[in-house]
Amino acid sequence: MSRVQDLLTPIPAAYHTDERQAIQEKARQFAMEVILPAANELDPIQGQIPEEIRKQMGELGFFGIMAPKKIGGLGLGVFEYCLVTEELSRAWMSTASIIARSAMARGLPFPDAEEKARLAARGEYLGSFAMSEPDAGSDIASVRCRAELDGDEWVLNGQKMWVTFADGADFLIVVARSKPYDPAKRHSGIRQFVIPKERGSFPEGITGNPVPKIGYHGWKTWELALHNVRIPKDYVLGGRGNSSSSSDDDTAGFKAAAQGMAVPRVHTAARAIGCARGALEDALAYTQQHERLDQRISDLQEIRFKIATMATKVEAARALTYSVAHDADRGVMRQREAAMCKLFASEMADEVTNEAMQILGSSGYTTEYPVERYWRDARLTRIFEGTSEIQQKIISDSLLPRPARKREK
Ligand SMILES: Cc1cc2nc3c(=O)[nH]c(=O)nc-3n(C[C@H](O)[C@H](O)[C@H](O)COP(=O)(O)OP(=O)(O)OC[C@H]3O[C@@H](n4cnc5c(N)ncnc54)[C@H](O)[C@@H]3O)c2cc1C
Repeated sequence: MSRVQDLLTPIPAAYHTDERQAIQEKARQFAMEVILPAANELDPIQGQIPEEIRKQMGELGFFGIMAPKKIGGLGLGVFEYCLVTEELSRAWMSTASIIARSAMARGLPFPDAEEKARLAARGEYLGSFAMSEPDAGSDIASVRCRAELDGDEWVLNGQKMWVTFADGADFLIVVARSKPYDPAKRHSGIRQFVIPKERGSFPEGITGNPVPKIGYHGWKTWELALHNVRIPKDYVLGGRGNSSSSSDDDTAGFKAAAQGMAVPRVHTAARAIGCARGALEDALAYTQQHERLDQRISDLQEIRFKIATMATKVEAARALTYSVAHDADRGVMRQREAAMCKLFASEMADEVTNEAMQILGSSGYTTEYPVERYWRDARLTRIFEGTSEIQQKIISDSLLPRPARKREK
């Protein structure tokens, strides 16, 4: 009999509420009974997240966890968002990622913005975020995609890279420059433009190719080319659409993009923890179901110690994530702690999923067991939403003076 339940340590007393426990249990049951079988079937053939699962997730409220109740959301916080994210990710990380696509629909510069936000809270109006470019991933200030004002319209031209869900989304948010690139003012003029689109296709002026990725299946990630894409001049986030050269703080768009990364980083930590937990739980079950030399694998001391270390790492990452999420819900979201949380959880998930494969031996290196999926998906958490090196940079820059150039001797 598996002792997997031992891993599901209760929400610590300091954070526990009955409501939190209820949403965690609801997410856990749905993830294990509905999402996990779909993931096991669809990930190996790179299939898409089924519409039916998306619909059920909408009905359970998972797209609107942090949306206000008045627009049909659950009116909860980052903490509950992380609880649900871990559960979904334990089954299939992509389903934990798709719930993040609804928050993009809040505050859209459309006349029917409230109706769109209401649809988004049910998972029926979702966005895709196009920030990265072939030569601008870690460094947002290097973005070259250009937006030029022509009468009452912005005209966008450039290339975007790694745009997940660009095809399936109902709108794109494109980070572009409203001024020519100036190496002396790299942070200036960067804004987020909103391009409405039909689900399942690209609007006029946009063409794309899917990137052949090794994991994160369930949806596609795209390379996009934008050629004279026209949108009304008001379709800019933050209401700064009427100007291409403002005299006030023109780095606000860059700062908004950078600061907007904090919650996604905590969300990524929860995704990483879900992957690690999936691999660990599968390893626990495997070791109790398989024998070597007339002994259960779980009886081998080396394996027991590996399991102990893996479980401790998962719990440590979870404790840090809970703490950061708890503070965020009290209005304190520090970039440094969000970076620490993402760094620690994603590195941990890479180690734990890797170790789980080791515990399964050759079976771990097959597609017969989902452990390899957790490993492939966990690996991504060290790269997207800011690489581990970028998190280290954020943390070290907050602790130390910026490095000085070497003095000449
Ligand atoms: C499957 C997948 C899905 C994605 N989805 C999206 C999406 O939906 N939207 C989107 O906009 N982007 C998306 N991304 C892009 C992702 O966020 C970027 O790939 C990531 O930010 C890293 O950028 P890069 O690949 O250009 O690496 P680079 O920036 O080229 O970095 C290369 C290496 O240099 C290191 N490095 C770079 N700068 C520094 C520095 N200053 N100090 C120390 N080390 C540094 C990096 O850590 C890395 O090891 C996705 C990526 C993947 C793989």
